[in-house]
Order: sequence, then C-alpha cells, then structure tokens
Amino acid sequence: MTPAWAGGEATPRATCVLAPNPGAMTLEGTNTWVLMEPGSAQCVVVDPGPLDERHLERVLEVVALRGARVCLTLLTHGHLDHAASAGRFAELTGAPVRALGTGHDDLGDGDHLRVEGLELAVVATPGHTGDSLSFLLPAENVLLTGDTILGRGTAMVAWPDGELSAYLLSLQRIEVMTGSGEVTQILPGHGPTVSDPARVVRYYREHRMDRLAQVRAAAAVTGADADAVVETVYIDVPRALWPAARLSVLAQLAYLAAEPGPGQ
Ligand SMILES: [Zn+2]
Repeated sequence: MTPAWAGGEATPRATCVLAPNPGAMTLEGTNTWVLMEPGSAQCVVVDPGPLDERHLERVLEVVALRGARVCLTLLTHGHLDHAASAGRFAELTGAPVRALGTGHDDLGDGDHLRVEGLELAVVATPGHTGDSLSFLLPAENVLLTGDTILGRGTAMVAWPDGELSAYLLSLQRIEVMTGSGEVTQILPGHGPTVSDPARVVRYYREHRMDRLAQVRAAAAVTGADADAVVETVYIDVPRALWPAARLSVLAQLAYLAAEPGPGQ
C-alpha cells in the first residue's frame, strides 16, 4: 500500500503545504507549492488553494520559517480548490497573483519568471481546463502540473471548458519534455510527487486512448447519451467520481463528434 501523501519538502527548491480539503477529486487535498532558491529571501507560491484561513496561515508559517516572504503567487488554473484563496492571499502577502485569464495579470506560454535567482518557465497545458498552466523549474528539471497530471490515478477533462484534443496535445508536449530529460520529476496539484514522469505521462495518454475506444464502442450501442456511456464505461470507477467521469465522457463525445468519419 502506498503511504498517504502529507506534503512537506519535495526538492531543494519546492515544499508542499497540503490543504485540508481531501476528497474523491482532490485526493489528500490541494498541494500548495512554496518555491524558492536556496538562501533566498523571496518565494513564489503556486496555488494557495481553497479559501481556508488556517491553511493560508500554515503556508505563511512555512515561508517565515525559511526567513522569506511571498513576492509572487501563481495559479495553475482557476478551479476553486486551487484558486479560491488567491484574493485573500494577495491581501495577506501584498504579492501579485498571476494566471491565465480570470482577471489576474496574465501569463502566457513561454513566459520566463525570475525571482531572486529562482527561474520558472510557463508551459501552457490546456485540456483539464482552458486556462491550465504548468510551471517548469529548469534548475531541477521539475514540472508543476496542477490538475493536468496528478500524483495518483488519472486526471479529468472538465468539459466544456476543458477539451480532450487540447489535453492530448498537452500530454504529448509533456511526454516530449520527459523524453528529452527536460522534465524528470512532476509536482502535481494533488497527490504525491511523480518521480517517473515518462512512464506516467505515457500511461495517461494510453489510458485516455483506451477510454476513448470504450466510449466510442459504448456510444455505438447507447447513442451519445453521456449517462448511459458513464454507466457502461466507468462501471469500475467509484460512483463518487461519476459526475467527473460524466464531464470527461462529454469531452470524449465532443472529440468523437469532431472526428472525421470513415472514408472522409
Ligand atoms: Zn484540483
């Protein structure tokens, strides 16, 4: 049995403060990542998490213990379990919040961020949501993936904002980065760190293609009825996950509907 993930120091530059919001979709809770260059007095926080004052206090304690202060907050995407506290955290820290869209100071693919020696590159990885970003820490070949790749199980495509075709391209992009050695470890938005990202990303892609084949087969029998497809294809998945599975099925049905038919 895998030991439960409790957060803590993951790499010399990255520490996880686990938010107290465990659940079927959030695993042990949301991972709030504190990033800093060793010896620096400034840090970057990725995903302050749900609006929970105690959690934000704990994040600030971890930062203070390192003799640092927060000078930038980043969001992997706008879902509430990652971003609900962004405004409150900005009040507490005085640090700006950057993300894709949602009224924050926009980030774009390929942006480079530098904070007292800490270097981060923005990698757009849409699919789970349209605004999903990953952050590359080149000094450690580490990729922070938010909900694009999780520490356990697989991620979902939150249709209609999320899109399967975009998600598959994002997985492909991360797979290339693992193949070249640019990424050797993943720090996800939920669950434990991933130390064999090449294998995990390949599994994600294969799993997506397997599911897609199952959805295609089920839809041929039941028609494009999402609930009927969920009951057929996700029979092995706990019912608590069916609402999420339903969104993934809608994403897959949309993907299949856009597919060129035979002979086209
Ligand atoms: Zn999440």
